[in-house]
Amino acid sequence: MLKPADIETLFATLQAANPAPATELVFASPFECLAAVLLSAQATDVGVNKATRRLFAVAPTPERMLALGEAGLVEHIKTIGLFRSKAKHLIETCRLLVEQHGGKVPHSRAALEALPGVGRKTANVVLNVVWGEPTMAVDTHIFRVANRLGLAPGKTPLAVEQGLLKRVPAAYRRDAHHWLILHGRYVCKARRPECERCSVKAQCEHGRRL
Ligand code: SF4
Repeated sequence: MLKPADIETLFATLQAANPAPATELVFASPFECLAAVLLSAQATDVGVNKATRRLFAVAPTPERMLALGEAGLVEHIKTIGLFRSKAKHLIETCRLLVEQHGGKVPHSRAALEALPGVGRKTANVVLNVVWGEPTMAVDTHIFRVANRLGLAPGKTPLAVEQGLLKRVPAAYRRDAHHWLILHGRYVCKARRPECERCSVKAQCEHGRRL
């Protein structure tokens, strides 16, 4: 397990290279953020952005997306994996947003997780990106990177999330999940991590053994 001094250096390094990290999904409102994250499960951000560029032009609100209907939504998102169940969930989510939340995305973990297709990870992304809360949305990249680094080892995404919340210094907590996702996506890749060009190799348990 990494020592606090190593964790500080690790995040200071990631921050220096990218002071204002952001999600690579494209959206212009809390609703579009929620919809994009819901659609992004097991899909690439690039693929989701390609579909939502046209979708959000015609359906930028839950009301407009409901009016589009499930079949209309499917036409826009059928290039994205699991599009049928995502269309069903997203339309049902829009219905609940309109009926129970005045057409707004709720600022509450419990209310978010009560929406169809919205699990803990999606709620964490929305709470972080829309409201700046220091949540840790543990996806496959963060799960892998946190374990390899020895930053927050854990057997389940929830264990890693809890480890990160405990170990990431407060100053870095809001942006930590972005830095870790981007690091996993572009450097600490699943099959072949690029340790030889990794900026945090000296702070990494795996890297130090090389
Ligand atoms: S040194 Fe290698 S394993 Fe460690 S974070 Fe960097 S790329 Fe990943």
